[in-house]
Amino acid sequence: MRRRPDEIAKMRKAGRVVAEMLEVTSGGVRPGVTTAQLDKLAREVLERRGARSNFLGYHGFPAVICTSPNNVIVHGIPGPYVVQEGDIISLDCGAIIEGYHGDAAVTVPVGEVPPKVDKLIRVTEEALQAGIAQLVEGNRLHDVGLAVQTVAEGAGFSVVKGYVGHAIGTQMHEDPAVPNYWPGTPGPKLRTGMVFAVEPMVNVGGEETVVMDDGWTVVTVDGSLSAHFEHTIAVTDDGPEVLTVPG
Ligand code: MG
Ligand code: MG
Repeated sequence: MRRRPDEIAKMRKAGRVVAEMLEVTSGGVRPGVTTAQLDKLAREVLERRGARSNFLGYHGFPAVICTSPNNVIVHGIPGPYVVQEGDIISLDCGAIIEGYHGDAAVTVPVGEVPPKVDKLIRVTEEALQAGIAQLVEGNRLHDVGLAVQTVAEGAGFSVVKGYVGHAIGTQMHEDPAVPNYWPGTPGPKLRTGMVFAVEPMVNVGGEETVVMDDGWTVVTVDGSLSAHFEHTIAVTDDGPEVLTVPG
């Protein structure tokens, strides 16, 4: 779907709130903090900015952010987990302003982490940036996944295929899906006004995933570490515009 400029303007506002949630929650990450406390920090931002949560109540999800430490790939539920020195943790945040959605995630290290873990985080962010650079009118959607996959696999990591990015607008998850790999076909042609959430999930080990008994938490089957970065991006006449950035 192609969004009008006034719709993109609302998504820009939602994106600013999401960026602030990421800033505040990642600023709150330290040894000893619980993931429930990080969720509370994000709720305070939503309240302060007059935004609604798109995560809370989504198929019954009980929080406004996802917190995914270490071998958790995505959809970790904030709760009693105590963040430890040497962890990595993905923070995935979303907000709705005037009916329009934003969605973004970062992965941060807690204190010192080994060089390979640092590389995992850096490569996943680079893979996201490479994907974003493909969001240009006239390209095909799956140029994004090809770019993400090339960066991640080129660094010796694996790309999760069971979970993907998505178009976004008046719903958080709209069609089409945005795979982080080349799915074998080029996909739709990109046009100005299309908006996507691109979100590579990259593992140190294998790409296989399993959902825990809580019905949400997605972990790596081999227990290896996983990183996740996400932005909401509009295709514009001037190239890709990342909407989930501070105002
Ligand atoms: Mg997200
Ligand atoms: Mg998303």
